[in-house]
Amino acid sequence: MEPLEQAGTMVRPVDRGRLAEAIREVLMAVGEDPDREGLRRTPQRVAEMLEEVLAGYRMDPLTLINGAIFEAEDADLVLVRDIEFYSMCEHHMLPFFGRAHVAYLPDGRIIGLSKIPRIVDLFARRLQVQERMTRQIADFLEALLHPRGVAVIIEAAHLCTMMRGVRKAQARMVTQAFTGLFRTQPELRRELLAQLQPGLGPREEPL
Ligand code: ZN
Repeated sequence: MEPLEQAGTMVRPVDRGRLAEAIREVLMAVGEDPDREGLRRTPQRVAEMLEEVLAGYRMDPLTLINGAIFEAEDADLVLVRDIEFYSMCEHHMLPFFGRAHVAYLPDGRIIGLSKIPRIVDLFARRLQVQERMTRQIADFLEALLHPRGVAVIIEAAHLCTMMRGVRKAQARMVTQAFTGLFRTQPELRRELLAQLQPGLGPREEPL
């Protein structure tokens, strides 16, 4: 599917009643009493919470962009760094969260700066894997702006690795996706990563 099409194709609304019933089942399956005071409204609350944190499926990308694409002949590198995001790992349905850095080299078209965090959100608010989310953001900007290149770098902490098994609470995962000149010109990548380096911290070596 094309990146612009896959961005917002799920039109079926969340079935809150069904979700709440399922959560009630989960509570019983783990040995809890879903009718005790503290849990009585939990199925409903979890259903509403999931609807909110998974809202990305139902965001319409064209409404989100809302005409905020402009001609700009001389525009140079655009970098929006430290975009905070929260997503849900599709393997364990636990949160992963961190920061996204999004850069592109325009080719006559730019998008309103405030839209870039919203594009990150569009893909974050789903059941995701970090690698795919990184690639989807890059492909979406590529298809939208036809720039000379796009770079997306995401660093995130995953609760599923922090809470389970071998605990590596400090470990963060860094993923990256490049298109166009960022892919073909290593020098351009190095410049960008050097700009980002203070934020990326000493532990990571993205390239
Ligand atoms: Zn996981």
